[in-house]
Amino acid sequence: MLIVMRHGATTEELDRVVAVIKEMGYQARPMPGAQRTAVGLVGNDGRVDASRLEGLPGVQEVIQVSKPYKQVSREWQAENTVVRLGSGVSVGGTDVIAIAGPCSVESEKQIIESAHKVREAGAVVLRGGAWKPRSSPYSFQGLGRPALKLLARAREETGLLICTEAMDPEGLNWVAELADIIQIGARNMQNFSLLKAAGRSKKPVLLKRGMSATIEELLLSAEYLLAEGNHDVILCERGIRGFDTATRNVFDLTAIPVVHKLSHLPIIADPSHGTGLREKVIPMARAAVAAGADGIMVEVHPDPTEALSDGAQSLYPEQFAQLMQEVRVIADVIGRRMAEPAPVGA
Ligand code: PEP
Ligand code: MN
Repeated sequence: MLIVMRHGATTEELDRVVAVIKEMGYQARPMPGAQRTAVGLVGNDGRVDASRLEGLPGVQEVIQVSKPYKQVSREWQAENTVVRLGSGVSVGGTDVIAIAGPCSVESEKQIIESAHKVREAGAVVLRGGAWKPRSSPYSFQGLGRPALKLLARAREETGLLICTEAMDPEGLNWVAELADIIQIGARNMQNFSLLKAAGRSKKPVLLKRGMSATIEELLLSAEYLLAEGNHDVILCERGIRGFDTATRNVFDLTAIPVVHKLSHLPIIADPSHGTGLREKVIPMARAAVAAGADGIMVEVHPDPTEALSDGAQSLYPEQFAQLMQEVRVIADVIGRRMAEPAPVGA
């Protein structure tokens, strides 16, 4: 529920609304806007007496948010959320970000080389899993905590921000300590205890769409993060399961404009997992930027033939460099700009 204050409402009137919401046993979230201030009532269990709020001085109207997700919806917040990631990089505004790197961190040489290569091409965030959610327990599971150290070293050397996945609440503490963005993978999109833990962390979260999740379910999972107090949430379309085996997943690019309409949160696209095929990644990354994605996440490996995970969908560094040149042009055409990496040491 949103309590919209009159233009020119006084601080006392606003404080009174906040106090009454708290008295009723709910949380109040004042949201100053350019035109007027609104107060979000968080935790509405359907028993809120709206008339009590409507009658308070300074209140213009009380709006019931119609969607099941509340704080994530455009009804709640009309302006786009811009998530500040650090080093002057933000997502959700005019800039389009590129997150790139290998599927998994495999060795110091591999991750440092990857970092240099993707930075030279124009990525602003380095990706790489320390813990990997693999379909088979016999597949490479990731190096674990030592990989976090290697990612930290890569950041020191290149200035790139770090995005890496947390698979469980315990690992989340390690990841939150180091990473600039905590990734929650497709398989964990509805791991509600993990979402709650990530919602309590102070780092931005990249929430990937589950492979059989509807857009509404994706937004409800994001609501868990906001409900716990973390508003720095970036969504990610990474393909959904379909009947066609021609590609690894069905890359649902329609999700980009659909989410932009329903929510103020930024959404990026991952054509690597979306297609699973190296030569399909490039056209679909171009399409994602054209569709209005706030960023792209692309798997890049110094030698994909040697990759311990997802080699078939990983680009060669030269392919990624070429892709970056192309998406710069596309971003420009739609009035946006690819974010540029900060100078090292900045
Ligand atoms: C990944 O980013 O390497 C990954 C495992 O992605 P997803 O959760 O989308 O499968
Ligand atoms: Mn992968």
